[in-house]
Amino acid sequence: MRPFGYLRVASVDEAVRAAAGQPGAQFLAGGTNLVDLMKLGVEAPRTLIDIGRLPLDRVEELPDGGLRIGALVRNADLAAVPAVRDRYPVLSQALLAGASGQLRNTATTGGNLLQRTRCGYFQDVSKPCNKREPGTGCPAREGTHRDLAVLGHSAHCVATQPSDMAVALAALDATVCLHGPEGERTVPAAEFHRLPGDSPERDTEIRLGELLTAVELPPARPGGRSRYRKARDRASFAFALASVAAVLTVRDGTVEHAALAFGGLAHRPWRARSAEALLRGAPATEETFARAADAELAAAAPLRDNGFKVPLARALAVGVLTDLAAHG
Ligand SMILES: Cc1cc2nc3c(=O)[nH]c(=O)nc-3n(C[C@H](O)[C@H](O)[C@H](O)COP(=O)(O)OP(=O)(O)OC[C@H]3O[C@@H](n4cnc5c(N)ncnc54)[C@H](O)[C@@H]3O)c2cc1C
Ligand code: SF4
Repeated sequence: MRPFGYLRVASVDEAVRAAAGQPGAQFLAGGTNLVDLMKLGVEAPRTLIDIGRLPLDRVEELPDGGLRIGALVRNADLAAVPAVRDRYPVLSQALLAGASGQLRNTATTGGNLLQRTRCGYFQDVSKPCNKREPGTGCPAREGTHRDLAVLGHSAHCVATQPSDMAVALAALDATVCLHGPEGERTVPAAEFHRLPGDSPERDTEIRLGELLTAVELPPARPGGRSRYRKARDRASFAFALASVAAVLTVRDGTVEHAALAFGGLAHRPWRARSAEALLRGAPATEETFARAADAELAAAAPLRDNGFKVPLARALAVGVLTDLAAHG
């Protein structure tokens, strides 16, 4: 057991000040990921700054018709908000596809987006891992990597981003709101998580000491339909082998707007821009959807044991888009 300090804060300003003044401090939200990693010795914060009592637990309507989701809104609560279920079903479905009922009751919006990868080497401190200890190597590349990345990986890391919610937020063009020592800023959700490149120790664009305060959703598109579908090894308690979040608007048999993001394939939710470009203005048919999925997945570079993810992701994308076009 390593000793660590504990501090409960009452305001966002206090949280940011505390983080700036305490090297090695980490925010504690629901604790469902951070505390597990502390027990494994992967994370060793010197101080835990408990943000659990900050007033960031509300979902509010925005003047433009969007929604602002506080960083401490629990995953279970968010999935059940009528405005989310009605206007952004893809988000509600993604949340309900993640973890278990008990975990969703505790896990928060901010913590979910900032949870660490499930790569087994990352979680095992007896093994080298560039993400945990930069410069030590990536044993997953030649070792056990069935669950890991097929897109956007690097020689330094082939991990995948684990959050289901993040995939839905990328497809919804959501915005992540941050508050740090230098003030407030926003980052598009689709760009919040990073590709590993040569610095896989950084999962996201968040800076040291910054607090994630909220996620904002733009107004839902009129006539838009959305859905999340996830393939996993068992029906609960399993991270995505591959998943897809899709938002589709079809008018008179033609795709007017499409937003597509894959989960389980990369170090970040993979926004399928090539597929989207092909879909816009094309007939809303299964052939179009298959062509678009193929165009996107042509960039895949599977490792020895995870090539199955490419046809799996293709089938998920084609299936979801076809269902949305047919039934909504
Ligand atoms: C058995 C199991 C199965 C799971 N299955 C799934 C799954 O299928 N899909 C899925 O998406 N997730 C899954 N999860 C992960 C779960 O969703 C996350 O553990 C949870 O969402 C993390 O939220 P939290 O509030 O508990 O975060 P915490 O554990 O409190 O924090 C996680 C990280 O985020 C940081 N942090 C938290 N809030 C903020 C903030 N506001 N600002 C800045 N930093 C912050 C913390 O410092 C820490 O580094 C599973 C977890 C378990 C244990
Ligand atoms: S894939 Fe990334 S997280 Fe896994 S061992 Fe390699 S460097 Fe570590």
